[in-house]
Amino acid sequence: MSLNQKYIGLGNQPNAIRELFAYGQARKAEIGDDKVYDFSIGNPSVPAPQKVADTITELLKEPADVLHGYSQSPGQMGVRQAVAGNIKRRFGIDAQAKHVYMTHGAAAGLAIAINAVALPGEEVITVAPYFCEYKVWTEHAGATLVEVPARAGDFQIDVPAMEAAINEKTAAIIINSPNNPVGSIYSRENLQEFTDMLRRKEEELGRQLFLISDEPYREITYGDEVPYVPCMYADTLVCYSYSKSLSLPGERIGYIYVSDTMENADEVFYAVSGSARDQGYICASVLFQRVVEACVDEPSDVEAYRANRELLTGIMDELGYEYVQPQGAFYLWVKALEDDDVAFCNRAKAHELLLVPSSCFRSKGYARVSYCVGADVIRNSKQAFADLKAEYDA
Ligand code: PLP
Repeated sequence: MSLNQKYIGLGNQPNAIRELFAYGQARKAEIGDDKVYDFSIGNPSVPAPQKVADTITELLKEPADVLHGYSQSPGQMGVRQAVAGNIKRRFGIDAQAKHVYMTHGAAAGLAIAINAVALPGEEVITVAPYFCEYKVWTEHAGATLVEVPARAGDFQIDVPAMEAAINEKTAAIIINSPNNPVGSIYSRENLQEFTDMLRRKEEELGRQLFLISDEPYREITYGDEVPYVPCMYADTLVCYSYSKSLSLPGERIGYIYVSDTMENADEVFYAVSGSARDQGYICASVLFQRVVEACVDEPSDVEAYRANRELLTGIMDELGYEYVQPQGAFYLWVKALEDDDVAFCNRAKAHELLLVPSSCFRSKGYARVSYCVGADVIRNSKQAFADLKAEYDA
C-alpha cells in the first residue's frame, strides 16, 4: 500500500473545534437544544442578505449549461471586474481585474497564496494566536510556519519581535485583522510601524517579503477602522472571503487580490494561477461568482453580532471574567480561570458551555467564545458562566 502517510495523519487528526461542535450536536439531542450553550464554531448566525436569494432566483432563469458550466480558471472576467471595481471604490487603489483570482473561500485563497510565494526550506511567519490551518498550508509548500506572539496586553502586532523573527529564509508573513480568535483589529499606527519595518527588511535582505492579509472578517466590525493593507505595503496579497460578510460559508467563494501596487504583480499573479492549478483550485462555483458580481457592494449586517457582543461582554463584566474587548469578527477571547486552558474548557463543558481552548490557536491561558449564535443562547448561558466562576472562587 502506498498511501501518503502524512495525509493519513492529517486526515485522522481530530479538529478540536469540529469535534466540540459535533459533541454539542449530540449533547443537544440528548438533553435538549436549549440546555447546551454551544460557542464552538464560527458559522455566521445572520442569514445571507435577501439580495443573494433574489439574485440566485434570477440567475436560475439563465441557460443551465452556461450558469453551471466552467469559467476560466481565475473566474469570469465580469466577476473579477466587479471585485476590482469594489476595491477601487472603497480603497482608492487602481485595482485591475487581471490581478483578481476567484477562489473557493479564504481557505483555498490562503493555500494558493502561501504556496505561490513560499519555497521548500523557507519560512512563513504569523502572529499567534492564529487560525491553525496556516500551518498545514505552509507545510504543504515544504516551508515552516514561525509563530510570533501578539503584543502582550493589546494583541496588536509585536513589531520588534516580528523584526527579530525575519531572516534570509523568510518568504511571507500572514496577518489576520479583524482577528480570529482574539477579535482585535490592527490599528493604522501598528500597521504603519509594521510595514515600515518590512520595507526596511526587504532592502536589508535584498528580497521581497510578501504580506498575506487574511481578511474574511473585514466587514464584521463595530466602529474601528480596518486599514487596507495594499495601500500601506506594496507586496501584499489579500485573501478575502464572502463566508462571513455575506454569510455564505458553505458556498465556498472568495478571492485573492494581488496588489496592483506590487512592482511584479503580473508575475506574482502567474505564481498564484500556477499554485491554484497545482492544487486543483480552479474555477470557483460559477453560480456564486455571479452572486458576488451582483452583491459585491451589498453591506454586511453586523447589528446582531454587535448586540451579542454587548450582551456577552455585559455578562462577563457582571461575573468578573477578564477578556479582550472585541473590535471585530464575532469572537470573545476570555481569560481562562486557570493556567491550563484545556482543563478550563473541560470544566466549562461540564456546565454545558462549549468553549474552544486557546491552545487550538497555539496560545495559552484563554478560551474562545464564538458569539455568532442566537441571543437566547448567550442570555441562557449566564447561569452556567456564573456556576463555572463560582467553582473557581470556592
Ligand atoms: N481565515 C480565518 C482567520 C478564518 O477564521 C477562516 C474561517 O473561519 C478562514 C480563514 C477560512 O474561511 P473560508 O470560509 O472563507 O474558507
